[in-house]
Amino acid sequence: MTRIDLHSHSSVSDGGDSPAEVIEYAVAAGIDVLALTDHDTVGGIASAAEALPPGFTLVPGMELSCAYRGSSVHLVSYLFDPDHPGLTEELRRVRSDRASRAEEMVHKLRAQGVDVTWERVLEIAGAGHEEYADANTIGRPHLARAIVEVGAARNVQDAFDRWIGSGGPAYASRYAIDPVRAVELVRAAGGVCSLAHPARAEGALNGEVPLELVERMVTAGLGGIEADHPSHNREQSRHWRGVAADLGVVVTGSSDDHGSLTGHRLGARTTAPEAFEELVAPATGVPLIRG
Ligand code: AMP
Ligand code: MN
Ligand code: MN
Ligand code: MN
Repeated sequence: MTRIDLHSHSSVSDGGDSPAEVIEYAVAAGIDVLALTDHDTVGGIASAAEALPPGFTLVPGMELSCAYRGSSVHLVSYLFDPDHPGLTEELRRVRSDRASRAEEMVHKLRAQGVDVTWERVLEIAGAGHEEYADANTIGRPHLARAIVEVGAARNVQDAFDRWIGSGGPAYASRYAIDPVRAVELVRAAGGVCSLAHPARAEGALNGEVPLELVERMVTAGLGGIEADHPSHNREQSRHWRGVAADLGVVVTGSSDDHGSLTGHRLGARTTAPEAFEELVAPATGVPLIRG
């Protein structure tokens, strides 16, 4: 049985392992098809592609940060043309705003007596993979590690709870694209996409992505819903499987592995081969990468 995991992160964004190491771990976990979906960047795809063993398939992808009514809505996107001008321009804007927002959070932390420095956060975000400098994505997990280092939190989770979680004392919001527009952009770039962890929309929506938004995203070309995700409980998975069936899109399942950050869990949830085939059938941007 082909094992397919459609959501994973490397150190090019906020994962703990290099792209090549992610492939190694995926092989060890018995995965045959893996999508590398770093936040707002495809900067890790080339080096992941170089690390593929024979018989392994890499799905080039990315997790696009979107926002709706004060909550983050994430879109796992696949097989789009990374040079599509509209998409490239959005991604640059998103990444650059991620950097200014992280800097703003450093200021807020310092003003509250937490001695983190911007230099150190940059170092953590870029450590060990300078070759991707342009494409690296800075995220709150990097900031969280800096907070832990200076002793203002016990661990990354605690740093989110105390300081930088949505609405926390050092939280700053950032630019993110409208979810419907994001689907349109990915489709215009020849890609396909699935709504990531719909029961985990951090922020004002209190977790769940509203159905009216999902319906509009489907109309715009959303092909799947990630009903199976490690952070969803049984009831949430069941609910979102039902929504996918009602709206006529496929169910995807993925680990959303971040290496050591989430605990290694590649393959913890998987996507059925038929669902994968149906999801990627309309893609015209770039082909699957086979080892
Ligand atoms: P950002 O993309 O900078 O907004 O940060 C969001 C990322 O932080 C997510 O992709 C997760 O990897 C991680 N994250 C979000 N909430 C938490 C949390 N409560 N504890 C640990 N990591 C989290
Ligand atoms: Mn992440
Ligand atoms: Mn996400
Ligand atoms: Mn993710």
